[in-house]
Amino acid sequence: MRLITFEKDGRPALGIVRGERVADISALDPDVPQDWPTVFAKGVLERLRAMSESVPEERLIPYEGLRLLPPIPQPPKILCVGLNYTDHAEETGAKIPTIPIFFIRFPTSIVGHEAPLVMPKASDNFDFEAELMVVIGHEGRHIPKERALDHVAGYSCFNDGSLRDFQKHTVQWTMGKNFDNSGSFGPEIVTADDLPPGASGLRIGTRINGEVVQDGRTDDMIFDVATLVEAASEVMTLEPGTVIATGTPAGVGLGRKPPLWMKVGDVVEVEIEGIGTLRNTVEREA
Ligand code: MG
Repeated sequence: MRLITFEKDGRPALGIVRGERVADISALDPDVPQDWPTVFAKGVLERLRAMSESVPEERLIPYEGLRLLPPIPQPPKILCVGLNYTDHAEETGAKIPTIPIFFIRFPTSIVGHEAPLVMPKASDNFDFEAELMVVIGHEGRHIPKERALDHVAGYSCFNDGSLRDFQKHTVQWTMGKNFDNSGSFGPEIVTADDLPPGASGLRIGTRINGEVVQDGRTDDMIFDVATLVEAASEVMTLEPGTVIATGTPAGVGLGRKPPLWMKVGDVVEVEIEGIGTLRNTVEREA
């Protein structure tokens, strides 16, 4: 099942994709929750699936032309993992981590599919990072690895857009990872039942203006999805709608000589096999 959040009458609305068309959940039943975290928390996703499948073709709306928002516009937590692919850690000159390196982003730093990625006034060292995004469905703390995947609702694509000079000004990466509208998330959440366990074995990469710049596989992660869920939940509660960006393979702009930064006008696509293609165009901060 493919889940989207789109803008309708100036507010977020939920949709379930059916081919080229979409079942608009709010139009079917105004009483259903209007954000995916609440749907997951109340355990009504299967009811919505049944509802969406019973919608007659003529009541579906066209997918094309919808303005997509990040599938979860306001996650309770946005956890990101740094240096989680050996080849990427090597290209940055970093040591291979033995413990997952978590950092955080805020919702203001993230846009949806086809929304502009914003090159800030403060820096043009604007780098791309294709990542698998994990979406938590069932709340948990101290989740053992063996049960970790039971807590995952689905997966999406993420571009962990980074301003490298700001990332490196200080020991903490926070500022370089949190410029407004510098990352993207979407287009859809693909539910876990439609993918291999832990979304392992999927091709993941980035294209800039059609040219392949990253080409990896999700099973090359140093810490897999179950390990990351276990490690994060040892520290904090993972609520429904928490998202975990799982790190990027080699090929980022920072690792090249000279560095390859995204430029104004570039079309940047993050694609993950079986999940989708997240496309954004780079614009200059107004
Ligand atoms: Mg990253």
